[in-house]
Amino acid sequence: MTKKPVIAIDGFSSTGKSSISKIIAKNLGFIHLDTGALYRGITYYALQNCLDEEQTIDIEKLITCLPHIQLEFQNVDGELELFLNGKNINKEIRFPQVSDNVSRVAKEAAVRNFLLQMQRDLAAKGGVIMDGRDIGTVVLPHADYKFFMTAGQEERAKRRFTELQTAGEKTDFETVKQNLLSRDKIDSEREISPLKQAEDAILIDNTNLTKEQTVQLILSYLKKF
Ligand code: C5P
Repeated sequence: MTKKPVIAIDGFSSTGKSSISKIIAKNLGFIHLDTGALYRGITYYALQNCLDEEQTIDIEKLITCLPHIQLEFQNVDGELELFLNGKNINKEIRFPQVSDNVSRVAKEAAVRNFLLQMQRDLAAKGGVIMDGRDIGTVVLPHADYKFFMTAGQEERAKRRFTELQTAGEKTDFETVKQNLLSRDKIDSEREISPLKQAEDAILIDNTNLTKEQTVQLILSYLKKF
């Protein structure tokens, strides 16, 4: 039996990478893996266990704690949810405090190396759509299909704000926009595995596309499996 393809979707925050990947995975009968959740999981752990006196994350302490962190995706009612040392943290990893700190944690080489093999193992069997920032460039450079998603800043901030409001989070538009821009900047400018379009990735700009139109556009590039 030939191995099912692997699809890498990278791009900026709030371009809809995860929700779009989820729909495509359902459509193709693939597994969807949201790698941002793994970086968020480590950040959540750090916020619980590795704060310094100023209540900010002590990166050195976090690095020594990495061997105590076990992250695992488990199927919960048909969706993959993230567990940290046996506890479901799927909701907690979306908290604003996690969003505010995740890019600082994700730029550390030790953190990226810790997650690298795990991500490759998760994709090894094929039939996977993996979304993140460095999937097509570093994690799965030989992926069968690579896409890079972008959209205008204002539009992405609007989407994220609406998402948070719907989830009942109390926040304001400007705060959401600043978090987005600050993450874009740290993610794109970091030394290790920065966010950038792989040379062989297809660029998808969905500023003026609905979620469904974006799904259809991506599907149009995929051969029938
Ligand atoms: O995808 P999401 O916005 O949840 O990702 C949260 C953060 O995790 C990103 O802003 C980025 O700092 C980090 N990340 C990363 N590499 C990935 C996926 C996410 O550095 N492959």
